Amino acid sequence: SSAMAKSKFEYVRSFETDDTCLRNCYIVVRLDGRNFHKFAEQHQFAKPNDDRALGLMSRSARSVMEELEDITIAYGQSDEFSFVFKRTTTWFKRRASKLMTHVASQFSSSYVFYWKEFFGEQPLLYPPGFDGRVVLYPTNHNLRDYLSWRQADCHINNLYNTVFWTLIQKGGLTTTQAEDRLKGTLASDKNEILFSEFDTNYNNESAVHRKGTTLIWEKVRYSGVIKSAQFLQISVEDIPSMCPTSSV
Ligand code: ATP
Ligand code: ATP
Ligand code: MG
Ligand code: MG
Ligand code: MG
Ligand code: MG
Repeated sequence: SSAMAKSKFEYVRSFETDDTCLRNCYIVVRLDGRNFHKFAEQHQFAKPNDDRALGLMSRSARSVMEELEDITIAYGQSDEFSFVFKRTTTWFKRRASKLMTHVASQFSSSYVFYWKEFFGEQPLLYPPGFDGRVVLYPTNHNLRDYLSWRQADCHINNLYNTVFWTLIQKGGLTTTQAEDRLKGTLASDKNEILFSEFDTNYNNESAVHRKGTTLIWEKVRYSGVIKSAQFLQISVEDIPSMCPTSSV
């Protein structure tokens, strides 16, 4: 019978590898856009920061938080987003590949689904993709340092990109001249170029660009309690006090 035939084939299931995430750890899934340098060029992203693209990234992250289980915090900048599952999650038996692929596919389909809300009539030229990875963090301290690390990356890149594009857009330099000008400069030098040559205080630049976007749950009350994800531009140091993940 076909049932007997099926059981004869079923041993192939034992070839599947066990990728259960260690208990008690935070499970972090980080996504990053595939070849977004080119994607940004082809879709005429504003430089250094395209707010439509950042808005679409955050909207897609919100969809991930709302559609999937047990994500407590998300942090995003540029073409990347990190999602933190609560330590005690048993969703998909903590199987790394299930969690990661659900995050990546929900995010990708949302990016396409909500494209028009942010880019209007400008067409999406081809289907974008995102890679994913899973990292486990055993302590609150490690998790906070992870988020601080991503936020520091955002800060360093944004400071560089802000000066670089200011030198080009307002200073009339070519890209090569701007690169040369910035070679070997420290953060203080970059701040000084903006301040003394372009009358710009970097600290007054938009917080979304300087700090990235953090999403946490907010309880909204009307005829019962529903949950909705809230977008915040905060320092990562402020996350633990605002979020239940810091305890257990
Ligand atoms: P990989 O596939 O290895 O990730 P990549 O081209 O995506 O390659 P990243 O290091 O991820 O490289 O960098 C993403 C690039 O996408 C940035 O350097 C920037 O050029 C562009 N980008 C992403 N988001 C924005 C945005 N909101 N505004 C302007 N440019 C953006
Ligand atoms: P899970 O999230 O656990 O995968 P699921 O509802 O997707 O849950 P599956 O075992 O993957 O469960 O089964 C997919 C179901 O989707 C099928 O049982 C069937 O009801 C429906 N389905 C998928 N493709 C088709 C199709 N082409 N025509 C009709 N029904 C379909
Ligand atoms: Mg990369
Ligand atoms: Mg990328
Ligand atoms: Mg990136
Ligand atoms: Mg299915």
